[in-house]
Formats: sequence, structure tokens, C-alpha cells
Amino acid sequence: MYVFFLFFFGRCLTLVQVVPVTKTAPDQLVDIFRGRLVNEDSGDPTTLSIAKDWVDSCVKHHNLCGPPRGQQPPLLPTRVLDLGPPGSTGPVKLLELVQGQRGKYAALSYVWGIVDTSYKMTTLNRDDYIIQKIDFKTPIPKTIADAIEITRFMSVQYLWVDAYCIKQDDIKDWHRESGKMLEYYGNSHLTITASASFDANWGTFHSRILPSTTSFDYSSINGYRQGTAFITALDPAKENRQTKNFLFENDPITSRAWALQERVLSTRNIIYSSDQMYYECNQHFRSEDGLFINGRYLSANPKTKPVPLFTELRPDIQSRWDVLVDLYAARDITCQFRDKFVAISGLAKKFGQLFRSDQYYAGLWKKRIIQQLFWCIDPVVNPLVESVWHSDWPPTPKYYKAPSWSWACTDLQIQSRNPDGRIYAAEQYATFDNCAIQPDPDDETYYPGNEALYGRITGAELFIIAPPKVPLRFLGTSTQGRDGFYFPDGVPLWLTDESYNWAHTLDPNQEVISVQYQTRFDYRFESSQLWDMEIYALALGRDATINQDGMDSMNYLCLLVTRASRGDQNGAEAYRRMGTIWLNEYRMKGLAISLIDKSQYEQITLV
Ligand SMILES: [Zn+2]
Repeated sequence: MYVFFLFFFGRCLTLVQVVPVTKTAPDQLVDIFRGRLVNEDSGDPTTLSIAKDWVDSCVKHHNLCGPPRGQQPPLLPTRVLDLGPPGSTGPVKLLELVQGQRGKYAALSYVWGIVDTSYKMTTLNRDDYIIQKIDFKTPIPKTIADAIEITRFMSVQYLWVDAYCIKQDDIKDWHRESGKMLEYYGNSHLTITASASFDANWGTFHSRILPSTTSFDYSSINGYRQGTAFITALDPAKENRQTKNFLFENDPITSRAWALQERVLSTRNIIYSSDQMYYECNQHFRSEDGLFINGRYLSANPKTKPVPLFTELRPDIQSRWDVLVDLYAARDITCQFRDKFVAISGLAKKFGQLFRSDQYYAGLWKKRIIQQLFWCIDPVVNPLVESVWHSDWPPTPKYYKAPSWSWACTDLQIQSRNPDGRIYAAEQYATFDNCAIQPDPDDETYYPGNEALYGRITGAELFIIAPPKVPLRFLGTSTQGRDGFYFPDGVPLWLTDESYNWAHTLDPNQEVISVQYQTRFDYRFESSQLWDMEIYALALGRDATINQDGMDSMNYLCLLVTRASRGDQNGAEAYRRMGTIWLNEYRMKGLAISLIDKSQYEQITLV
């Protein structure tokens, strides 16, 4: 039962909760009020016991979590840390397994950070770690040492930690093992997430800054119930928007790209956040202070119980990929061009299993690729970080990361379902024809015929059949001080000086009017760059909106593309994406006709 009181503190209205538990004994109101006091030390035995109770209860009662009862334990990873049988406090050793061994293990999700990494497992110390204890020469970093303590407390013998279980100086081993994240996190009995830790030395355990509380004694009218309760303020942002509880927006781990799939693929997570400990499994989400949400938000498992309160938290399994990509795209990766696809490859594999006959192409899926091509840079978030917009155009091939048509080519926050998902309801003109992906030659996990290429790629050509491109000409700086385009046979179209978003054109009297020509560039172009470029609008689909006069207004949802330099394609004609634009049918005049005449459609190569 959720009970909140509203109090005036000064002039501020504050949402508060009652915490009816004393520090010494359970209170009689414990079954009525949600609130619980949180221990200051997350490594305190009583806190560990709470986590163990959560896990034990999940294992015992949740049908949606873990393998069916009676099924044998999962396959163990190639290597694990062996913590010894239950009750052990002795040295930890590295265990290298022969294929097919099974057992229960925990996995750690954490931030390496910029710290001394001499502890990591390499070709040189591997034998020492197997024969002797792993802290024989170099101390175990505190974040990992704390995870060992948690794992032992849970009576689990094995722990998987990437720094110790992947040979960090062996690229073949790295490719082989980093391609198994779906299995490693998907099969873990429990994943320990050091959410608030800035690096490996920070520690999974930490002291929490507790919210201030005010205590009062209470007694029911008949005297049956009495005790001491506490009042504490709730976070209005989280109370107002439930999604906030799941996102851990201020924790260091949330900015780390690898951590997204580690969390989403795991059945059970204990999340050591900055304020308290949280538990997430396929059945529910809960916290030390008594928050309990029936359902799971982030999941790649179709059997997960959905969060019931808001439709935004119940995307169908097709749309969940888009939701996850939006959460992933702007996260930090140390080596962007090498790892952008690898760090989400476990999730991609999982969705590949769910989508069955579908095909993965550079972060997009064949069956919905036309809609997914219409992703855009998030116009709300990114004006605030304009300094990080790329101005180098085109990106240098030396650091090839992704094709221009994939969301993975940017490091900025994106929206997969641009605009507001309307592309999915639009009448689709363009169709998929083919896609050629070039794998990383160093990746031995790729083999010919393995078309579902989830790891790093070194090239990608997408062939689509689409209406003829509509040429746009850059107009230069107008008298209104705006850069813009015009149609060769139409009226000028100016973009706003912020370079995207709402645009303007001229009415027959040469008056500037605002129209819904929404343009969103992927890069921050300068006028001097646009002046010499061949720019085209490539229509993918068309949707209808109602204009101010109550009339149907047709909008063509187009990619902005430009001819790719000849060096990219050995002289073949190819085009590079620059952004997206909506074109209004009325404004396009005669050009609109050719868009619906399919005999004029042509094959376009996007790179
Ligand atoms: Zn569960």
C-alpha cells in the first residue's frame, strides 16, 4: 500500500513518505506503509541479507526468472573466478574450463575507469592466476573484491569478471569471448551491478548519503498499534515519472555502453546505486526503501512481466529494439570505431533469435529497415551539446565505424522512431533490395554464410528501391540571415539558422511563412560545405496530417543524401546520408507525381 502525505515546508510543496521502521525492530505499520530505512553502508551484513532474501525469493517463487525447476545448471563461461565452496574465505583462482561444464555463477557489471589495470588477465599472468591466487602479485581492485564478497554471501562458487576472464592482450580471445555476452549474462544466476562506482577501485560497496528524516511517536485510538515512525521526502521526479526509477541516470554505469546489454540480458540484477540497493528480475523491481513495481522495464525477454502503469513502458517486442538503441547510442565507449557494434552484439543476437527469419544489418533489421532508416539526432537533447557535433565531413575511412545510414555512425543521442513513430504508420514507397556487409578481417567468429553479422564491420552497402531523388539546391544565406535550400522548380526553402527543425518558405507575395518542413541534419554543416554539395531528398514514405484549414496535408518522409566520393565506391554511384527531411506534397508541386509512379523507381546504393 502506498501512502503519501503532502506538507508545506516554507513555500515548497514536498512529497513525503512515512517510514514506520525503527532501527532496532520491525514496526507494526510495516505492512501498511511502503517506506523503509536504508542502511548507511551497502556492505553491511543486514543489507547483504536483504539482497540474499530477494534472490532466494525470486529463485523459489518466480516462474518467469531462471530455468524451469529441475533443469540442469547453465554452461559455465570459458573462464570463471573460482571462489571455493560455500563458506570459503581463502584465495580466489582463475578456472579455465573444458567445454560443456555446467554450474551456477554470478557476473559483474562495472566501470573499469581510468585506473591502473595491471591486475587484468593477460598471456603473461594467465598461468599464475590459474596456479596461484589471483592477488598473488597485484591486489584485486575493490569493486571486484566487493563483488567476490557478495557472490560468496549468496553461496555461489563462481564469478565472471571480464578483466580476469578475457585475455586482454589477445585479440582473438577478445573477439571470441566478447561475442558471448548473450550467453554469459543471459545465463548468470545473478548479475551484480556496481552502478555508482566510477572505476574498478571505487568499490561496489559504499556509504550512502541518507535522506533527512523526522521521527514521531504514534498510537492508534484503541492503543493497539503504537511505535515510532519517520517522515522523509520523496524524489518528486521519480514519483511523477515512473521510468526515472529504472534508468539510474546519474550513476556512472549508465554512461557506459557495454553495461546496457549486461543489465538487459541478465535475469536477475542487484544494482548498487548511489542512494540504495535495487533488485530487478523478470517479475518485479524493488528497492531497499520499499519501492515495489510489479513488472520489468528493460528486457529482451518476451515473457517478461510488463510494467503495468504506463503504455510507454510496454513496448511490443519489435519496438523494444528501438527503445534500447535510443538508450545505447550516446553512451561512452573507449574505442568507438572498434566496439560500437560489439558492445551491443549480445542484445542484437538475442533479438535475432526472437525475430527468427529477420536479418541484422549494421544495427537495423531487414523487415523494418525502411522505417528504421528514418532515425534522427534527438533535437531536444542535442542543441545543448552542440560543441560535440561533428564538423568533419565526410568521416575519415581510417576510423570506419558504421555506414552513414545506421544510427551507429553518430555518438549523439538519437530518436529511432522519428518523428514520434509516424514513419511506422506512413505509406511506404521505398523497399529493401539487398545489403552487403564487410566483416572485420580480425574477427574469427565471423564465417562465410554467417549473414547475421553482429560484431565490428569495415564496410556496408545498402541497396534500396526508391522513388527518384528530388534535387535540392543550397540557397546560401538569405536576406533573412538563414541558410537554406530551394527546389529547382519550386519556391525557396530556408532552414532555420539553428540548422534543423522548423523551416520557412515564401508565400506568393514573397512573405516568409513557417511550414512544417522539418529538417534534421546528422552533422553540423557549415554554409561553405553545403554550397558545393549535391543534395537530394530520397522519399521513403508518405503520411497524412491535418493542416490548419482542416485539409489533409501529405508529407513525404525523406532522407537527405549526397553523392559519396568516388574513392569510397570504386567509381560506382553511391550516396551518403546527411539527415532527414519532411517535404510537403503541395510545396513539391509536379515533383510529387513521380514519387507515386513506380515505373520510375530506381535502385539507390547507400553507404
Ligand atoms: Zn524474479
